Amino acid sequence: KPLVFSGVQPTGNLHLGNYLGAIRKFVALQENNDCIYCVVDLHALTAQLVHEDMQTQIRSITAAFLAAGIDPKKHIVFNQSQVPQHAELAWIFNCVARLGWMNRMTQFKDKAGKDREQASLGLYAYPSLMAADILVYRATHVPVGDDQKQHLELARDIAMKFNLDFHDKIVPTGLGIDIKVGEEPVHAYFPMVEPLIDGPAPRVMSLKDGTKKMSKSDPSDLSRINLMDDQDAISKKIRRAKTDPDALPSEVDGLKGRPEADNLVGIYAALADKSKADVLSEFGGQQFSVFKPALVDLAVEVLAPINAEMRRLMEDPGHIDAVLRDGGERARTRAEKTMNEVRDIIGFVR
Ligand code: ATP
Ligand code: MG
Repeated sequence: KPLVFSGVQPTGNLHLGNYLGAIRKFVALQENNDCIYCVVDLHALTAQLVHEDMQTQIRSITAAFLAAGIDPKKHIVFNQSQVPQHAELAWIFNCVARLGWMNRMTQFKDKAGKDREQASLGLYAYPSLMAADILVYRATHVPVGDDQKQHLELARDIAMKFNLDFHDKIVPTGLGIDIKVGEEPVHAYFPMVEPLIDGPAPRVMSLKDGTKKMSKSDPSDLSRINLMDDQDAISKKIRRAKTDPDALPSEVDGLKGRPEADNLVGIYAALADKSKADVLSEFGGQQFSVFKPALVDLAVEVLAPINAEMRRLMEDPGHIDAVLRDGGERARTRAEKTMNEVRDIIGFVR
């Protein structure tokens, strides 16, 4: 079975972008894959060091995974800090990755802001830890939002350089796998990861600005729909969402140059499991005064059961912690196997 890995940071309220871009795909992938889903708490330190409510945040992301329908018995759910092998492999990847590669990362530029000298070294090295998260399980498929595409390309670059630089050490260990690089077969240790970024809403945009992605860390709560928002909040936020004055077009082409309209149609399509074209064939020619209430109803219908189940799960933190401990143990066993092989390939004494 293909091995799927993905993670979500405990950095704030989960929103519709996290759900449509990531968590909903996690759920669907369980059927035909072996899945590992991680609350990436080490990553949460990169942008802000001290978190007053770190434990609550970790539990609430876990609750969202479970409430959305992830099965922690058939698959693995855990928090990253319980598996120190992630950080260990990240160190090795820090020595594989080149400064020139890291300097191209747009997430660093966005998150570091104007005063780059004050950004943490961890924020800069973030993509290297992310590569380690995936490759410590030698996972091949990674469901993420569109914003993570560049980091996954970097993970491939890191895997490829490791494979090529250690090629002569990998061969005698017999641990390698045959992968294709273009048409060329290469004997490798780490697989090439494939991002899974599809669907009508791979990048859900802010409700206040159709050119900015919806983010947990956006200071304006009106910019996003949180998974924990109740019906009133969802309704208020969608009614206040920025739009243009025109009616909806009848064809997808007509959404060009209308980022806010495009975003709301994409959200509707993703929530309804339809294409944007289907949604426009239903709502083309209608005003936002008609479309927005329909979107509110649909969002409430999809999110209310998840919201209720999250609240129920959050009442029993002991249960959530037990899920994470059990997942952590199983993840550690797998990660340690990889690390032993990596230590042998590099030539450490053990
Ligand atoms: P932060 O602002 O702290 O980075 P975030 O909202 O970007 O938070 P992450 O934990 O960094 O959330 O990302 C978790 C997953 O959600 C990733 O797969 C990411 O690609 C996806 N994701 C985040 N924002 C969006 C969005 N606006 N649209 C679609 N997917 C998204
Ligand atoms: Mg993010």
